Amino acid sequence: MDRLAVVVPCYNEEEVLKLASAVLRETVEDLIGKGKIAEDSFILFVNDGSRDRTWELIEEEHGLYPERVSGVKLAANVGHQFALTAGLITAMARSDVTISIDADLQDDVAVIEEMIDKFHEGNDIVYGVRRERKTDTFFKRTSAQAFYKLMGVMGVKTVYNHADFRLMSRRAVEEFSKYGETNLFLRGMMPLIGYRTDNVYYDRRERAAGESKYPLKKMLALAFNGISSFSVKPISLILGMGLFIIFVSLLALIYALCSYFTGHVVPGWTSLILSIWFLGGLQLLAIGLVGQYIGKIYIEVKHRPRYNIEKILHGGDTPSDDGDSGAEIHD
Ligand code: UDP
Ligand code: MG
Repeated sequence: MDRLAVVVPCYNEEEVLKLASAVLRETVEDLIGKGKIAEDSFILFVNDGSRDRTWELIEEEHGLYPERVSGVKLAANVGHQFALTAGLITAMARSDVTISIDADLQDDVAVIEEMIDKFHEGNDIVYGVRRERKTDTFFKRTSAQAFYKLMGVMGVKTVYNHADFRLMSRRAVEEFSKYGETNLFLRGMMPLIGYRTDNVYYDRRERAAGESKYPLKKMLALAFNGISSFSVKPISLILGMGLFIIFVSLLALIYALCSYFTGHVVPGWTSLILSIWFLGGLQLLAIGLVGQYIGKIYIEVKHRPRYNIEKILHGGDTPSDDGDSGAEIHD
């Protein structure tokens, strides 16, 4: 039977923590009752350097339900993406499958069962995808949609309308843990892992209690990080623009020369206008070229794993791995 770890990053969530714990415990008990997950499945709260009573409440819950509720305390606030990573990697050693969910219960716990079913059908990653964005403000909805579009244009593969409500098998988390980068944008990284994936759909609710811990500033930072961590397209755009402007300077050359010979110009205009266009183009081209190298260096320093072998078929060998993670040998 597979042991489930529900990973919950929490930053100043004292208002909602007890409720989250109760709802998630009930969900886990229900799944255990149905024989879908192991008896010793648990919920892992990650306290992301909260300044309120979040950690005390986690300790309290652990005291009351030591088997069911665990906690990780981060020494300082590192942000949602890092807190979640810390939780997943901590849970990895103690579980067969993880589900990450926000503490505010906006994501529907009812689809967790469906996620587990899809996991048993052989999916390694199951994305929770929002059906509609009715509960969002107009601003959040349109900005989020523009963001997904932009990501697509920039060549970053993401799952549309998926936040970080997601099931991951242990081997998927293990593979993810090999990604050594510090600019984390988990949603963009998951599709790089490979393996079979599926989606479950749900409606996102209002926050159960408390305020959003993602103010506009953090949202914009996340969006920019998402693009800049995955794509060097902006640099290519500069290079392209430089080439384009140099081309325009050629047109300007023809135009200026014609004007010059027909005598419709103030003295000095021809050389000035040509210099402006040509030098402008040349500078953009140079910056873009340098940028291309920096982009390559950026990709190199990430030291991302270059591939993930899912299975090896090889005659006569015995499985060389430690059980159900990593490669399986079939004859
Ligand atoms: N969170 C975190 N560290 C932070 C900010 C947020 O761990 O620095 C957690 C937060 O406690 C919540 C989740 O990330 O469980 C998502 O945050 P929130 O619900 O405030 O974001 P929103 O749903 O408003 O986008
Ligand atoms: Mg939320």
